[in-house]
Amino acid sequence: MKYYSTNQQAPVATLDKAVVKGLAEDKGLYMPERIKPLSKEFFDEIQNLSFQEIAYQVADAFFGEDVPAEVLRQIVYDTLSFDVPAVPVTDRIFSLELFHGPTLAFKDVGARFMARLLGYFNQKEANDRLVNVLVATSGDTGSAVANGFLGVPGIHVYVLYPKGKVSPIQECQFTTLGQNITALEVDGVFDDCQALVKSAFMDAELNAHMKLTSANSINVARFLPQSFYYFYAYAQMKKRGLADNLVVCVPSGNFGNICSALFGKRMGLPVKRFVAANNANDIFYNYLQTGEYKPRPSVQTIANAMDVGDPSNFARILDLYGHSHEAICADISGAAYTDEQIAETMRFCLGETGYLLDPHGACGYRALQEGLQEGETGIFLETAHPAKFKETVEGIISRPIEIPAKLAAFMEGTKQSIQMTNDFADFKQYLMRQ
Ligand SMILES: *Cc1c(COP(=O)(O)O)cnc(C)c1O
Repeated sequence: MKYYSTNQQAPVATLDKAVVKGLAEDKGLYMPERIKPLSKEFFDEIQNLSFQEIAYQVADAFFGEDVPAEVLRQIVYDTLSFDVPAVPVTDRIFSLELFHGPTLAFKDVGARFMARLLGYFNQKEANDRLVNVLVATSGDTGSAVANGFLGVPGIHVYVLYPKGKVSPIQECQFTTLGQNITALEVDGVFDDCQALVKSAFMDAELNAHMKLTSANSINVARFLPQSFYYFYAYAQMKKRGLADNLVVCVPSGNFGNICSALFGKRMGLPVKRFVAANNANDIFYNYLQTGEYKPRPSVQTIANAMDVGDPSNFARILDLYGHSHEAICADISGAAYTDEQIAETMRFCLGETGYLLDPHGACGYRALQEGLQEGETGIFLETAHPAKFKETVEGIISRPIEIPAKLAAFMEGTKQSIQMTNDFADFKQYLMRQ
């Protein structure tokens, strides 16, 4: 399979080039040249297949031409060593719990898949040059990528995060690991971290000095595997006899997750419509209303993994829909909530149903609660475990919550980070010394 750039000004790339480069030469995002529909038999049988088997079939459609079947199957089965159950919250609204992986957030799947695929390409080329993964994070990406790549030979990971703007638990998940993981604490906001990473990829001198790749959701190996979730969600709803008129709601920041869902729809997944739920960073919501895309600096919210002012995967959505605002609006609607509304939703849902939402999932739940129409069943993605935002969640519901053992284990390590300004010259100088 070849991959083209959304900006159309770069040569097409093979899968391994697209994975290693991350971003195309023209700063565009790679898109697969073809999106293969899955067979009718697959959808007829899907409710009887395991998560791993469903995911393998989907992965085969994307990567089967470039990765031998046995290797791909191994990568998928290794990546998905945990379940993502669809749990009823009300009789019409389900939570797809994506937080049962190693760092308790949905990004675990993309990060682990990418680490294994990159490891395979590295080993195939018998490459002795270290690959350096640069990743900007507002919290969850850093922990998922750091843990996904931890100990993978031939790869070093640099995590850039905004100082003081990630939760203490999130910070522990990427600053305490050591080995091939380095945390850089940037004096700025998430958008500064993302800009530093983007500039690094465009800097010729730096790229001659070291082999750089990205693990943000711009990377095809990270974002495409997220589509596994949607097929499995559908399978679970079909098993319950609730798959007709399915509405899928995705709490969105950089729009990688929902974008993978839209790829799923293109492959034949019978989802009636999608809802993109935002926090106060409502750039996409405004685009749907007005047809105009106006990026602006992100504002800090209690759903901080969605604090994105210029969602990188927007370019992919535009490309997928031939730049038609009308076509995009036909498949996706939007919602946006303030911190007060998020908090109110968490209290309301807990009181009415006993289900504890995290601030991101709360945006998803509320959008369904407000927007579900007659005859529709809704499923929102519960993208992280509430304990990842312990202080915030406890402050809102006014009672202590339990920390899962997996998370508590991270808190025992010692924080190690390197201070960094948001000036690219400083970042470059640091990397040139490595
Ligand atoms: C990353 C993240 C999101 C947003 O996902 P995108 O793919 O960037 O849209 C939502 N919730 C949580 C908990 C996240 O970590």
